[in-house]
Amino acid sequence: MKKIGIIGAGASGLYAAINLKNQNTDVTILEKNDRIGKKILMTGNGRCNITNAKFYDEFLENIVTNQKFLYSSFSQHDNYASMDFFQSKGLELVTEEYDRVFPKSQKSTDVIRFFKREIIKNNIKLITNTEVLSIKKFEKFLVKTDKKNYDFDYLIIATGGLSYPNTGATGDGYKFAKNFISGPSVLRLSSFIVGTDVRQISLNLSVLDENELDKTLIEIFDKNPNKDISNVLDNIVPNALSPVIIKRAHINPDKKSNQITKDERSRIVKNIKNFTLDFDKFGGFNTAVITKGGVDVRDIDPKTMESKLVFDLYFVGEVLDIDALTGGFNLQIAFTSAFAASSAIKEKI
Ligand SMILES: Cc1cc2nc3c(=O)[nH]c(=O)nc-3n(C[C@H](O)[C@H](O)[C@H](O)COP(=O)(O)OP(=O)(O)OC[C@H]3O[C@@H](n4cnc5c(N)ncnc54)[C@H](O)[C@@H]3O)c2cc1C
Repeated sequence: MKKIGIIGAGASGLYAAINLKNQNTDVTILEKNDRIGKKILMTGNGRCNITNAKFYDEFLENIVTNQKFLYSSFSQHDNYASMDFFQSKGLELVTEEYDRVFPKSQKSTDVIRFFKREIIKNNIKLITNTEVLSIKKFEKFLVKTDKKNYDFDYLIIATGGLSYPNTGATGDGYKFAKNFISGPSVLRLSSFIVGTDVRQISLNLSVLDENELDKTLIEIFDKNPNKDISNVLDNIVPNALSPVIIKRAHINPDKKSNQITKDERSRIVKNIKNFTLDFDKFGGFNTAVITKGGVDVRDIDPKTMESKLVFDLYFVGEVLDIDALTGGFNLQIAFTSAFAASSAIKEKI
């Protein structure tokens, strides 16, 4: 019987294990924490925003880095396939505002319970309190841990990224990739969030161009000649931003609409079209929800998640250089990539 090792019992490792398990496979998960899914517990503020119900293209629009890389695996196993996966095995789900999907119980602990149940049901070997220290490949993969050594025919690295390191995501997968697969392109470190020089972002708060926006302002001012300028601006921008825009446009906030000059109107338009926000520093990986950067997807087969450099070695989940906006998309990346790897291994066996 072929032996498959999975390093990491997070969302991606657990999902891969359950998909892999059949009578021809012997699946072992090695996890350094004393329990599974420490990060899953924290997701969605303890409610676990497990995926998002947006349809295909709209879903993919929310993938920020390496969206195209995901096309092939997502066409094999998309968000609706994952919803089926959970619901058919007894985890009821609900869809809420912005198409975000949660367990019906609103508890991430129920997602953990679900995974625990499936691990037992499928006879998957789960070895906790065991940290993988290094990996070598001879005929098989030799995996050295802080307790004992293991050998596997196939290996899935599901060690997560670097965000919230107290959950176990300490970047070990990058270390394995770097030591194991030589070559400069393994890690796309340049995109790590802490390395960026961005200090200011600019928001365009109106879909209208400057001329159209100016005309709109004239119309609204004409309709409300004796109202305070800040109240009138509330028709165009979020309430909290009106006083900021008025201040940045150097306008006396007590002015009425009919007292606003052409120059002042033009400054309002400029500030709405180019509303800048400054920030001093990022919160770093201790507070980041997702890691930007990771194993370079150019070295990974998008259909199977197999390394193009090392046969039978797979990378899934946040360890890869793929990330999305918040809303359930990042867990779906973990599930979709895990499914692709586990299906590919099953086909080989
Ligand atoms: C606070 C917070 C809230 C979030 N909320 C959401 C949300 O609601 N919806 C959403 O879609 N996404 C959310 N995310 C992102 C999402 O949780 C992650 O993208 C996802 O969990 C990544 O799964 P993973 O399996 O790739 O990695 P992880 O969940 O990080 O799992 C990696 C596992 O590998 C283990 N490991 C690492 N190195 C070793 C080693 N050397 N030996 C053995 N084991 C090892 C770790 O202990 C860990 O258990 C959130 C993230 C955070 C931090």
